[in-house]
Amino acid sequence: MAKERKGKKPKKKAKKMKKHAYYEIKGTVLSRKNVACPKCGAGVFMATHKDRQTCGKCGYTEWKKQGS
Ligand SMILES: [Zn+2]
Repeated sequence: MAKERKGKKPKKKAKKMKKHAYYEIKGTVLSRKNVACPKCGAGVFMATHKDRQTCGKCGYTEWKKQGS
C-alpha cells in the first residue's frame, strides 16, 4: 500500500505549467510596464533588466539612460 507513496518518480511536471505561466504574466501585468520593441512594433514587449531592456524576438537592446 505504502509502496506507491515511496515511489522515486514524483508526478509533478511543472515544465509545461511554468512556460504557460510565463506568457500569462507577460500578457497581463508586465506588458503594461514594459516598452514595446521599436523594431518589432506594438505587441512585442521588451524584457526589462536592471540597466537595459531587451527584445526577446529580435534581440534589440535599449540601455537605460543614466541621468544625474
Ligand atoms: Zn524586437
